[in-house]
Amino acid sequence: MEGVLVTGSASAELTGECVRCLEPITDEIEVDLQELFVYDDRDHDSEEDDEVSMLQDDLLDLESLLRDAVVLALPFQPVCEDDCPGLCPECGARLLDDPDHAHEAPIDPRWAGLAALQQDQQHRE
Ligand SMILES: [Zn+2]
Ligand SMILES: [Zn+2]
Repeated sequence: MEGVLVTGSASAELTGECVRCLEPITDEIEVDLQELFVYDDRDHDSEEDDEVSMLQDDLLDLESLLRDAVVLALPFQPVCEDDCPGLCPECGARLLDDPDHAHEAPIDPRWAGLAALQQDQQHRE
């Protein structure tokens, strides 16, 4: 008697990018909604009007209800796959495309002189 109880579900299409490899991803979510919209009864002296959804001239404004429900349902850190390995820290290649991706171990600059010597020796042989 105090208002209208709204129940339902809404679905939305998501687009974004993987937080690990930046690959574009699309997804779909479905959220359940339930909210009581109370009649706008000005005789009520409620100081919590902001917390309560009101009927406005027999109309329901579902926007904030929908927005809140969808935002809460959004994945906090969307990934293209659960075990997405991300990007190569050396060159930025996407590791999912190239699982065997590897670089030769970087040469410690203190040994760089020895490496040059080794190359020199191989050259002479
Ligand atoms: Zn990814
Ligand atoms: Zn790489």
